[in-house]
Amino acid sequence: MSKLRFEVITAAFGKKAIEVPECDKRPSDYFGAKVFNREKMFKYLSKEVYSKLIDVIDNDAPLDSSIADSVAEGMKRWAVENGATHYTHWFHPLTETTAEKHDAFIEHDGKGGIIEEFSGKLLVQQEPDASSFPNGGIRSTFEARGYSAWDPTSPAFLMDDTLCVPTVFISYTGEALDYKAPLLKSLRAVDKAATDVCRYFDKNVRKVTTYLGWEQEYFLVDEGMMLARPDLLLTGRTLMGHDSAKNQQLEDHYFGSIPKRVAAFMKELEIEAMKLGIPAKTCHNEAAPNQFELAPIYEECNLAVDHNMLIMAIMKEVARRHGFRVLLHEKPFKGVNGSGKHNNWSLGTDTGVLLMAPGKNDKDNLRFITFVVNTLAAIYRHNGLLKASIMSAANAHRLGAAEAPPAIISSFLGSHLSSVLDHMETTDDVVKILSKRELRLNIPSIPELMIDNTDRNRTSPFAFTGNRFEFRAVGSEANCASAMIALNTAMAEQLTIFKREVDMLVDSGIAKEDALVKVIRKYIKYSKPIRFDGNGYSEEWCREAMRRGLDCEASAPIVFDRYLDKESVAMFRNMEVMTETELRARNEIKWEMYTKKIQIEARVLGDLALNHIIPTATKYQSSLLDNVIKMEQVIGKEEGDRLSAENIELVKQMAEHVSEIRRLVTELVERRKIANRISNERDKAIAYHDTVAPMLESIRYHIDHLELVVDNELWTLPKYRELLFIV
Ligand code: ADP
Ligand code: MG
Repeated sequence: MSKLRFEVITAAFGKKAIEVPECDKRPSDYFGAKVFNREKMFKYLSKEVYSKLIDVIDNDAPLDSSIADSVAEGMKRWAVENGATHYTHWFHPLTETTAEKHDAFIEHDGKGGIIEEFSGKLLVQQEPDASSFPNGGIRSTFEARGYSAWDPTSPAFLMDDTLCVPTVFISYTGEALDYKAPLLKSLRAVDKAATDVCRYFDKNVRKVTTYLGWEQEYFLVDEGMMLARPDLLLTGRTLMGHDSAKNQQLEDHYFGSIPKRVAAFMKELEIEAMKLGIPAKTCHNEAAPNQFELAPIYEECNLAVDHNMLIMAIMKEVARRHGFRVLLHEKPFKGVNGSGKHNNWSLGTDTGVLLMAPGKNDKDNLRFITFVVNTLAAIYRHNGLLKASIMSAANAHRLGAAEAPPAIISSFLGSHLSSVLDHMETTDDVVKILSKRELRLNIPSIPELMIDNTDRNRTSPFAFTGNRFEFRAVGSEANCASAMIALNTAMAEQLTIFKREVDMLVDSGIAKEDALVKVIRKYIKYSKPIRFDGNGYSEEWCREAMRRGLDCEASAPIVFDRYLDKESVAMFRNMEVMTETELRARNEIKWEMYTKKIQIEARVLGDLALNHIIPTATKYQSSLLDNVIKMEQVIGKEEGDRLSAENIELVKQMAEHVSEIRRLVTELVERRKIANRISNERDKAIAYHDTVAPMLESIRYHIDHLELVVDNELWTLPKYRELLFIV
């Protein structure tokens, strides 16, 4: 074994779980300790300022700029008392991470000294020098000014010595340069449209909130081993590595007992999450070795998105303290499951009703069916767009790899709900109005609780799970907002159309319930092609989906086109979520990002092939040949050659692989050069997808063969059996 590899492996074996601070306290003792939450607002703000701020948070009241100074002052006082020295506007640029620019809380005091200061002006708006964030050409770099603006609906929090203020990030011409701005707009759109529809059932409803409960999957790798794998370090995934003889065949990792070192990491992560107000609830092993999951209790969507971004950041920090590195990439290892992020999505009213949950009586159930059917219609109309919202260079490895949903959006409802919809579609007298107050639905009864784990279809990308839909195709590294923006906007549009049609029927004299059922039936029929309860991994489904006219495109750069379809542009514009300019700019970024990701992978693989793999293989060839010569010398030519025949054969095979690797790497460089000459971002991304990406696999094929036969003593890179099994 190469010296480095030997050292990192023995070091990993010796590592013990570290003690976790505050392990003995109860979560309620420290939950939210690092958040400027309502309790602290109440303590640090005057009564008047507090109630004005709560009105902004709860009721979308416009922000009264006169309170900004007081809020900033209160926030700063709390932060400084808790050790903060700096503040930052924290935002989600169009990369997959968050951004922050730290400034100290200091101002000249006019007497040669300094004082700690944080004004309302600094809280509300800032101008980060943002020229280096992706903007898809909206802002050319010479006028690189964007501004970040406070989002009071997501509370400020402390990270180390810094007060972080969640913000949106917008260009001076008003276009969003981040995920949060369109997310907030999509939440507003769905609130308005859903509230209008809710009022058919309950006049008291004034607000509908979108909920998101994410489940975050990730891998842990020993830090030393990660550092000895340049591909993992630079691209987040292994670009080579032969299957381990044992991986997940025995299904012994899923829900298995958690190794002590990992358990200590999870405990600390949970504590850190709780301090930041993230209600972390479940931690468990996932299907692949060294794969784990964390899920909090669901929250309001904007807050949940911020919390997911935060968790991804603190995971990385906590992991380092435990001698691990976190892999958030969707497919770090070939041959074992990749990682996703399930987005459990639902809507709820300010009267306490979950709209995707069955109710106690027929009226409630008509409301329930209304929302389920409108969801189906929304995702059917925009199935291609929804796929685009979760597509990336990394997630493309997972979709369609018979471990995650295919690159086709469909929805699983379960047999019970399916039969209810089928019945409604085919039966004429669904509604009987018995009296003004009483209504009888002529449909199979709907149990109040539909959550039934046996009835779950894990192959479905968008499954109904009792009181919510679970969007399972989201990538583990992605910002949840991308999927949520598309889903919320599609839902808002569909509910708006639905309401218009129901109102038209009511205006023509049809009773409200009959009108509702008529329009529901129309959308049950309309959305039928999106319903699929069978095996989403099967080949028959791909053929069937094609017949049904669902979007089956799998090439990521082409999937991104769906954002610019006439229907998508109209939807985002009509729901006032994004303009065509914004959509175009975002697509430029998607294509550019796609190209860059593949480009980096290609460079890393080329380097490693030439300076790790080939030298190692040739060294081993030499030692085999040396043996052949010595055999001849000692035993005599004839007998020696006979006994060395297999070694000679092996040397030849290795020489073939080595020469193929050289040839392919040269070709890879050539293809990259050709692709790089293309100036149109879309065409360049397509060239990278079609001509560069497939070569990574071809090169890997030869490297993985060499790994199998080359002396283990010589191999420099940690192998799958080490990366996946040593924690
Ligand atoms: P599973 O792995 O079986 O899907 P988990 O318990 O790991 O289940 O995760 C379920 C997730 O769904 C949690 O984040 C939970 O808070 C969330 N969730 C539960 N009910 C709702 C709901 N009505 N709306 C949104 N999210 C929900
Ligand atoms: Mg789930």
